[in-house]
Amino acid sequence: MNIVLLGPPGAGKGTLAALLKTELNVPHISTGDIFRSNIKNGTELGKKVQGILASGGLVPDEVTIEMVRDRLGHDDTASGYILDGFPRTIKQAEALDEMDTLDAVINFVLSDEEVVKRLSGRRLAPSTGKIYHIITNPPKREGYDDETGEKLIQRDDDKPEAIMHRLEVYRNETAPLIDYYRAKGNIIDIDASPSPEEVLRSVIASIKA
Ligand code: AMP
Repeated sequence: MNIVLLGPPGAGKGTLAALLKTELNVPHISTGDIFRSNIKNGTELGKKVQGILASGGLVPDEVTIEMVRDRLGHDDTASGYILDGFPRTIKQAEALDEMDTLDAVINFVLSDEEVVKRLSGRRLAPSTGKIYHIITNPPKREGYDDETGEKLIQRDDDKPEAIMHRLEVYRNETAPLIDYYRAKGNIIDIDASPSPEEVLRSVIASIKA
């Protein structure tokens, strides 16, 4: 199954994708994670996109599209994939249409207020990408990962100025994709406010329907 997860930053796409990939046995492909791993490893691509990610802007379409084209060419996508964070612009959606046929586009619906609450409290384990929230999903020991014991970090783009910018970018560039996919008839709206387990149940029910 080829699935796209759409929705504002902080709607829980990454958390849901991690749960859904075990259910469907397909890879979770997050363009944000690929960029972050390039930054961490100091690659040319990482150097090019570091500032853009920190400010909450979008990496140019050509760069992102080629990166995804390459990733979708790997053998592990033979029985499908979960795309998280791509497409984010109409141009990217058109490019994806040329690469493949999608089975479902899941649109996570969440208010701006909830987005800000979730992003500002989000913390990550740098080596595994495991996601916590200081209030709703805290680690056992404050500030440290349960599994590796490493110190949790806050993404630069989860800081207040970048959050506002990301929301604006989402509204201007990405939200138009909802109409784009609605016109094609393969979009499913999911309320992203309940717990991850509940959201997972709704998603599975809707893609199996
Ligand atoms: P995410 O982890 O999906 O929130 O992505 C983090 C950041 O990576 C975004 O704020 C963008 O700077 C960049 N990024 C991720 N996916 C894309 C994309 N499809 N197009 C452009 N930039 C992207």
